[in-house]
Amino acid sequence: MLAVEHAESLAFVQEKFSVFYANHDLSVPDVHRREFGFGLHKKIDFRHKAFRTNAELNAYFRQNAPLFASYSTALYEFPDARPMEKKVFMGSDLVFDIDKPTRDFAHEHNEIFCVECFGRVKKDSMKIVDYLQDDFGFKGVAVNFSGNKGFHFHLRSQEIRGLSQDSRRQLTEYLTGPESIFIAGEEKGRDTDLRGPSEKTRGWGKKFFDYAFAFIELASVGELKEKGLRGRNAEEFFLRKKGVLELMREGKWRFAPKKFWDAIYAEFKNENGVGVDAHVTLDLARLIRIPGSLHGETGLAARVVEPGRLPEFALRDAVVFSAGEKTINVLPQIDIALDFPERLFLKKNEPCEVSLASGLFLMCKGKATLLLREKNW
Ligand SMILES: [Zn+2]
Repeated sequence: MLAVEHAESLAFVQEKFSVFYANHDLSVPDVHRREFGFGLHKKIDFRHKAFRTNAELNAYFRQNAPLFASYSTALYEFPDARPMEKKVFMGSDLVFDIDKPTRDFAHEHNEIFCVECFGRVKKDSMKIVDYLQDDFGFKGVAVNFSGNKGFHFHLRSQEIRGLSQDSRRQLTEYLTGPESIFIAGEEKGRDTDLRGPSEKTRGWGKKFFDYAFAFIELASVGELKEKGLRGRNAEEFFLRKKGVLELMREGKWRFAPKKFWDAIYAEFKNENGVGVDAHVTLDLARLIRIPGSLHGETGLAARVVEPGRLPEFALRDAVVFSAGEKTINVLPQIDIALDFPERLFLKKNEPCEVSLASGLFLMCKGKATLLLREKNW
C-alpha cells in the first residue's frame, strides 16, 4: 500500500502535517523555475504546478498539507506549461538517489522499516559524498535524507545544469564502477596484449590500479593461487613480480590471464562501488522530494544534512512529532515488530497505545489505523 487509505487516519495525518507546515518554512532554490508535484493518495497525484516565490509555496503547504511533495530537478522558462515541451527546458540539477544497500548482507531484514539496511545506506552515502567532492571536485554538494530509506544528493551550480545526459550517465557509472576496465585482444582463444589502467590513469581506474598494485606487491604464492593462478603459473608470476609491477605501471597487464585480474577487480568493485538509482539521475523531467518536506510514507522530515555531518546523522533527527509519551491508540493491520521510531511489538487487530511519531509512522506505512487520537481531550 502506498499511502494512507483509511479515511480517519488520513485526516489525522494531514492535520498533523498541516501543524508542522504552519510552523516550518520550506525554501526551494530557484523556486520560480521549477515544476511541482503533490500527492495525497500516491506520491504524485498531480504535477505541473508552479510558484513564483517560496512564500507562495509555503502558503500552499499551509492550506493543503500534501502528504507527498516534489519538485523538478529541471529548471524551466514556464514551469507550469504543458505538455512538457512548452515548459522550455533551461538545464537540470544533477541529482543522485540511493535508497537501498548496494550489496546484500546477512541480517534479519525488517520489511516495514529496516534500521540495519539504513545503516548500510548511510555508509554508502558517505562514499558518494567523497566521490562527488574529492574525485569529481564538485563544490556545494547538498545532501538530504529522503524521508524514508535513503539520501538524495543535489548539485545546483550553473555549469552542472548544462551537463548532457551522457555525462550524467558517466558520472553514475563512476559511482557504481564500470563492469570491466580491461581491454584484451584475442588470438586462438587466448587473451593477448591485455591493457588496463596505468600509474597515470585517473579516477576510478587509478583507485583500482593502486589497489591491485598493492595486492601484487604483497601477495604470497598462496594468495596468488587463491585468486585463480594455477600451480606453476603462480610460482612463475611470483618470481617475476618486479617485472610484472613495472609493466602494470605502464598499463600492461598481460602477465596473468584476464580472468585473474577480473577476479581482483570484482573484489575491488564490491568494496568501492555504490549503487545509486540511475533513473533518478538520467531522467531530466524527474520530480524529487522537496528537502525539508514531510514524507507521506513515514511522517519523517526529509532533513537537509551538512555533507560533513552525515556520519552523525541518525533517523531520530528526522522525527518531528513526539516520540516520547504514548498518546494515541491504533489498530495494527498486521503483526508488527519495529525498532524505530520506538521499539514496538504489536499484534494484528489488538488495539495499542503508541507515541504520536510511531502512530503516524505506522498509519503512513498503511500498517495501522487510528482508533483514538491524543488523550488530552
Ligand atoms: Zn534490511
